[in-house]
Amino acid sequence: MGKNIAIDGPAGAGKSTIARKVAAALSYIYVDTGAMYRAMALFLIEKGISPDDSASISACCDQADISIEYIDGEQAVILNGRNVNAFLRTEEVGNMASKSSVNPDVRAKMSALQKKIGREKDVVMDGRDIGTVVLPDAPCKIYLTASVEVRAQRRYKELQAKGVEADLSVIAAEIAERDHRDMTREHAPLKQAEDAVLVDSSYMTIDQVTDRILAVYHEKVG
Ligand code: C5P
Repeated sequence: MGKNIAIDGPAGAGKSTIARKVAAALSYIYVDTGAMYRAMALFLIEKGISPDDSASISACCDQADISIEYIDGEQAVILNGRNVNAFLRTEEVGNMASKSSVNPDVRAKMSALQKKIGREKDVVMDGRDIGTVVLPDAPCKIYLTASVEVRAQRRYKELQAKGVEADLSVIAAEIAERDHRDMTREHAPLKQAEDAVLVDSSYMTIDQVTDRILAVYHEKVG
């Protein structure tokens, strides 16, 4: 539809919280592409495939029929006819997604689906390669980041609030490892698109970041 907003950045920068608020402010649809990679990861885990077995991942990724629907305004990811939202947010699925998303066949399948959604609707789409690969013509592109320390603190607080025991230094090491994998992979690595606006959320509130992105949108799109 031409007025899409692409938000990329590393894990824990606040992309999904912010993208959801920006989408609500503009009455756009929010598309969480990480959840689609997570659904593929869940499929691979359930099939018992190793994250390092690239040939098997390529061979079976076409058996995963992944689509998205909106239920009460929230994105639901449908994997082979089943709403899998409740199973996507575990560390196991996140780690598998981080590894299996390196596979070029997985990426080709996911980005074709995401491009189609972006052609059909006005969306706020977040991920790692949205401004660079999926929606290269989006008029408003944001690269949202925060320091590893701040992102680790946020994740630590989230886990504490859920009553889950966690070690801050382990979380920070995992975040740094995931950043490294996302930024150095061969296909569609995480990087700031040339025409993306950099927003560092380390010392900003959620509302400040949302307002900043809406200001960029109005400057670029009107
Ligand atoms: O954002 P989220 O943590 O849910 O994404 C899960 C994994 O999917 C990430 O670690 C990243 O490697 C991958 N991903 C990707 N490209 C996207 C979105 C997510 O490679 N557009």
